[in-house]
Amino acid sequence: MYSIINTVLQIQTDKMIPIAKPILGKREKDLVLEVLSSGTIAQGSKVKEFEDKFAKYTGTKHAVATSNGTTALHMALLAHGIGKGDEVITTPFTFIASANSILYCNAKPVYADIEESSYNIDPEKVKEKIRKKTKAIMPVHLYGNPADMKALMEIAEDNKLAVIEDACQAHGAQYNGKKVGSYGTGAFSFYPTKNMTTGEGGMVTTDDGSIAERLRMLREHGSKVRYNHEILGYNYRMTDIAAAIGIAQLERLDGFNEARISNADYLSRKLKGIDGLTTPRLNKGVKHVFHQYTIKINGTFPVDRDKLAEILKDAGIGTGIHYPVPVHKQPLYKKLGYKDNLPVAEKVTKQVLSLPIHPSLTTKDLNHIANTIKEVAEKR
Ligand SMILES: *Cc1c(COP(=O)(O)O)cnc(C)c1O
Repeated sequence: MYSIINTVLQIQTDKMIPIAKPILGKREKDLVLEVLSSGTIAQGSKVKEFEDKFAKYTGTKHAVATSNGTTALHMALLAHGIGKGDEVITTPFTFIASANSILYCNAKPVYADIEESSYNIDPEKVKEKIRKKTKAIMPVHLYGNPADMKALMEIAEDNKLAVIEDACQAHGAQYNGKKVGSYGTGAFSFYPTKNMTTGEGGMVTTDDGSIAERLRMLREHGSKVRYNHEILGYNYRMTDIAAAIGIAQLERLDGFNEARISNADYLSRKLKGIDGLTTPRLNKGVKHVFHQYTIKINGTFPVDRDKLAEILKDAGIGTGIHYPVPVHKQPLYKKLGYKDNLPVAEKVTKQVLSLPIHPSLTTKDLNHIANTIKEVAEKR
């Protein structure tokens, strides 16, 4: 009896296609075991090695590892001197960490609406929000799709603003042949759902040596020399155990990304031309690494977004809504007095649906996803 129940459960879990799935293998295990045998498990030589390799990969002079993507964003802002009274322009259509990292600095997030085609911050809307207090712009490369960095870097230069790229979803993504995180100061996350993982972990990338030095101090309770604390800092260190996983994952990142891109191509070809369904659109000159593959459902599709998610779930397909509520409409920000009207972000939160796109998907999985959606579309 027990084994029958077990088999049934096994079949059910096998059948469900998850929205995200980290891939960890022998190389990760070997490197972690090496760290465990070495005796140094907190920040040590593996973190340094991971930083050097990540900087080289991103094409930046420096990379500073942190405890997660949120602390990477917090440190990046602090390193640029963002503080009380300052304003940072960012997108309302992102994970809340982007905006909250600005609040941690006692600065104010100011929201600029997004472009509907890319879901990324609209440079024209950024221009409208610039005031005397504006100190930085924080674009987010949402879903692994690079923001319009040419326009944003020009705006930043014209107005002497720092650029903190939230690249937490975009490891390896490129804009005009250059990796994201190398335009401004980049912040990455290695949470298990991201394109590469360390369990928890983060990284800040920069070409500026003085910013890198400040980042290393902020990570280490404000000290360059042990027990000499020059500024208010934090314990935002990464462990060597996490870095060991990161080194192995970085070796496989391009392969992971190619699989995501190829899965996305496949789905987009299958879902082409369905009335009321928009597949991801690529801007010119970008390499999108498909952290998420997000479709948009409008009124001409037979069912609404939530109903489609339900149908997919019943067919054993996990989906995600990134994101159901724009940041300025979150209870926290409403309590802080935000009353923005950002129509594009507010509209698409009701229409977007992310489908599984991770590297472990089989052609059978992809066909099942596409065919389930096509069946719904044909019932109009
Ligand atoms: C994941 C993520 C973060 C935060 O990273 P954590 O490692 O979870 O702290 C920040 N911004 C965006 C856009 C993210 O997707």
